[in-house]
Amino acid sequence: MLNIILFGPPGSGKGTQAILLKEHFKLLHVSTGDIFRNEIKNATNVGKEVKQFLDAGKLVPDELTIRMLGGYVDANSAPELQGVIYDGFPRTVPQAKALDSFLEEKRSSVNVVLSLEVNDEELVKRLINRGLTSGRSDDSNEEVVRNRLKVYYNQTAPLADFYLSQKKFVSIRGVGTIDEIFAHLCDEMYKLD
Ligand code: ADP
Repeated sequence: MLNIILFGPPGSGKGTQAILLKEHFKLLHVSTGDIFRNEIKNATNVGKEVKQFLDAGKLVPDELTIRMLGGYVDANSAPELQGVIYDGFPRTVPQAKALDSFLEEKRSSVNVVLSLEVNDEELVKRLINRGLTSGRSDDSNEEVVRNRLKVYYNQTAPLADFYLSQKKFVSIRGVGTIDEIFAHLCDEMYKLD
């Protein structure tokens, strides 16, 4: 069972590449952002609880995020799948540790962390552009976009060291065409096993 983490700042192309990888390698795509947006759309209790965090570009508290992630993976795993691609999770060191325990219980572990590298100027441009068409309120406001980048550098970027020390961290150039980036990700996937 494969456990692939797609890592990188907001706007680095994780969602786009995760969908391609999911199809190609028969993986379950788990996006915590999508899970939360779905809860908000359905006006559930969780949705009401997390809306304020998403709107402000802040992280949802770890405990709730971990619970939602575990529930989603358990509810959507299927025998024909080769594993899971995590998109937007983990985003903090406690989330990474929780993922390790969750996988350990299943006699499994993280295989690789594929990190999409994109400069800030390009990220802000992509996010604001996405906001024009996606209807995502957290992409439409430059202040919220900049706050998400700040949160990324403060809370999520330190995770790179966590996985570097386990020799699981691989940097991928996240600028170029979607196909070029996908080809680089595939090269790393074929190195597994
Ligand atoms: P992006 O990668 O463009 O920031 P996501 O869809 O991954 O977008 O996340 C959108 C928002 O959902 C985040 O800004 C945050 O509020 C919340 N979120 C998503 N994943 C997590 C997570 N692992 N931990 C805490 N909050 C999260």
